[in-house]
Amino acid sequence: MAAITNHLPTAELQALDAAHHMHPFTTNNELAAKGARIITRADGVYLTDSEGNHIMDGMAGLWCVNIGYGRGELADVAARQMRELPFYNTFFMTSHAPVIALAAKIAELAPAHLNHVFFAGSGSEANDTNIRMVRTYWTQKGKPSKSIIISRKNAYHGSSVGSGSLGGMTPMHAQGGLPIPDIHHIDQPNWWAEGGSATPEDFGLQRAQELEKAILELGEDRVAAFIAEPIQGAGGVIVPPSTYWPEIQRICDKYEILLIADEVICGFGRTGEWFGSTTVGIKPDIMTIAKGLSSGYQPIGGSIVSDEVAEVMNACEFNHGYTYSGHPVASAVALENLRIMEDESLLDHVRNVAAPALAEMWHGLGDHPMVGETKIVGMMASLALTPDKDSRAKFAADAGTAGYMTRERSFANNLIMRHVYDRMVISPPLIITPEEITEMGKRARTALDESYAQIK
Ligand code: PLP
Repeated sequence: MAAITNHLPTAELQALDAAHHMHPFTTNNELAAKGARIITRADGVYLTDSEGNHIMDGMAGLWCVNIGYGRGELADVAARQMRELPFYNTFFMTSHAPVIALAAKIAELAPAHLNHVFFAGSGSEANDTNIRMVRTYWTQKGKPSKSIIISRKNAYHGSSVGSGSLGGMTPMHAQGGLPIPDIHHIDQPNWWAEGGSATPEDFGLQRAQELEKAILELGEDRVAAFIAEPIQGAGGVIVPPSTYWPEIQRICDKYEILLIADEVICGFGRTGEWFGSTTVGIKPDIMTIAKGLSSGYQPIGGSIVSDEVAEVMNACEFNHGYTYSGHPVASAVALENLRIMEDESLLDHVRNVAAPALAEMWHGLGDHPMVGETKIVGMMASLALTPDKDSRAKFAADAGTAGYMTRERSFANNLIMRHVYDRMVISPPLIITPEEITEMGKRARTALDESYAQIK
């Protein structure tokens, strides 16, 4: 058989893909009939496919390629590290410079009280770590009954059995016996879809107070932690009303509930700060990280742990870890990614250039007849598709049809936008320029026009 490379014709690659490759979160038979789009290379904010199309990546891969594609420095660091020390574990009283340097750097960037990192290979693994860590923490503190973790409906925290249970995605729970015991879900603060006639502020407060209700119902002595993203990403970039987070923080403090901020999307500049927790003004006990930590150039994740939690955990043997916890190549690449972000003042670019330009473009789409609310925080944004802006109505067709159609038209117009039911979301590389944002706006509007013409 000829070597399978980009030089093969697209149809041949598609046929081999369909024959042997099972794609995640995909109906593979549907994909096989259609043929996967084969991505061959990428540079900056653009992908190239096997037909020579240049596609603007409005999603930074899967919310992760924060410094953009094609940064050769990361490839050089990976090659150097592979030659010097491609692998060694951190289980048995050993360590190595890349992981030491990365942990120290993360501690420097994180809020002052978070100075300890437990590494994993992904966000899912890190959230699995968090489940075990908070339960072990309370057991060590003499309160083993505190084992319930409260999360939110429609949350996404990963796809392993543990992290998929933390998430509140019912189609995921329907497969494979999820959630595991002692995970409880409360409602999300999605005012557009669920706020009814309440003001956003009142609704934010109501939804936060569901946490207090749940704690009182389940028993204060049973609840270990609350987990949430500062800004919910994969659930549809749901920006909570301003009243939400202060109330959640108050409740966690009052009932001694650990607060886990899942920063897998929000972390590393996406919201205009190093961490989304800073943007929304909370003080988490643990932060989950992945994605932007390495800009997706290597798989790596972790949990950043507070001094208080680490003091308890470090006094016992935590019977937990992954072969690739603190992988030297992934650590070296992540460190280089953070160096580039700092040396090139990427956060300043986000705050002063990219986020204001993106906000102007995105809110500008609000005049489209099918667009309801437009929401944006830093470099993550969403818009609600609706047949009637005033009543915030839903489309009569199956939820998600309008979103799916808009995503398909966007793809056809060489812009990657995603949809979560009837919400469109974007999360471009942080390095995007104002000119590229203008181009993105044109493609997004064309996609909206084309899907509106089909739906009307
Ligand atoms: N947490 C959040 C908020 C995420 O968005 C994701 C992935 O999209 C994860 C966790 C899981 O990360 P991974 O896919 O690296 O396991």
